[in-house]
Amino acid sequence: MSAREELTPILFSVPFRAPAAPENLAAVIASDHVHGDGPFTKSATVKLVELTGTQNILLTTSGTAALEMAVRLLGIGAGDEVIVPSFTFSSGASSIVAAGGVPVFVDIEGDSGNIDPLEVEKAITDKTKAISVMHYGGAPVDMDAIMAISRKHNIPVIEDNAHGLAVQSRFGALGTIGSVAIQSFHDTKNVHCGEGGAVLINDPSLVEAAEIMREKGTNRSKFLRGQVDKYTWVEWGSSYLPSELNAAVLDAQLDAFDGIQERRFEIWNRYSAELSDWASSLGGKVMTPAHGEHAAHVFYVLMPDHDKRDGLLEHLRSHGVIGTFHYVPLHSSPAGQKYGRSVGSMEKTDSFASRLARLPLWPGMSDEQVAYVIETVKAYK
Ligand SMILES: *Cc1c(COP(=O)(O)O)cnc(C)c1O
Repeated sequence: MSAREELTPILFSVPFRAPAAPENLAAVIASDHVHGDGPFTKSATVKLVELTGTQNILLTTSGTAALEMAVRLLGIGAGDEVIVPSFTFSSGASSIVAAGGVPVFVDIEGDSGNIDPLEVEKAITDKTKAISVMHYGGAPVDMDAIMAISRKHNIPVIEDNAHGLAVQSRFGALGTIGSVAIQSFHDTKNVHCGEGGAVLINDPSLVEAAEIMREKGTNRSKFLRGQVDKYTWVEWGSSYLPSELNAAVLDAQLDAFDGIQERRFEIWNRYSAELSDWASSLGGKVMTPAHGEHAAHVFYVLMPDHDKRDGLLEHLRSHGVIGTFHYVPLHSSPAGQKYGRSVGSMEKTDSFASRLARLPLWPGMSDEQVAYVIETVKAYK
């Protein structure tokens, strides 16, 4: 085999295998507690509390489920508006629609991909019930500006922190700043359990409601703690809690978190150092987090135009490297047009999404594979 055949294909993302996962899973299967909220749920939750610094965290079946809970917890219902960036994952808007609300799309800042606080302020009406921000790549949104708008208009903030677990930013730890925040543990995320998520309840007045909502609308959590002598249906809820099987995998992943992040940062830093001259020479640029911090969740290049971006992805593919774009802007998606509305120009969103190319980034990549990606990217002119 040639050297290239041994290295390729280099997939875009390969889920991390946590060393302790098989043992943890075997323990759950051998136990009589396979449903949710058992020992591994408790253990993983404690680890998340330590990593993020916020006290009230509930594991969920997905990041999407956590977003649905966040929207419902803030009381969003029929006709209520929630301001979201158009450049985000579909669940950021779909969760609002699930509650009967209307996603109001606004533009991003041109170089971070994060929601532009100035555009948020312009989109506020008397129907606005929340502002939902997403820290792209775990690089912080300008939360000082967002929280100032939140206080001025008395509108709560949801942080979609699917990419930025445990990122310490100048604004505070990501996921601990807004009233409610979410994490995703999908297997494309830095830490995963196949499918899973968490909701972080930073506003203490929402904690009890969150427990009830996650437990099918019952006060079962209080019952299990001995605070009530029977449990019953008390509010709208659903089944948002993951089984112990998922929690067991998550717990093993969280044990490996430091090592995962160390390797992801090594690769990210190499891409950044070795590709920035190449990107500039073509009139583009490499990912440059505006406030310094990020989660090494994604590494992207902003190409000078759409054709050059598609050309780069095609070139990589023909050499066995899978890169990818990110987010068809939601304001122009079929469901975005049907359910949402836009305020202001979407020029930066359209430009960013049409020029962005992400490179493979996962902890199991070998140094040779990283070098091969860099060499292949640089061969594109
Ligand atoms: C992955 C992701 C989600 C959804 O998470 P799931 O666990 O897949 O439901 C939400 N928002 C963003 C920004 C994501 O990247």
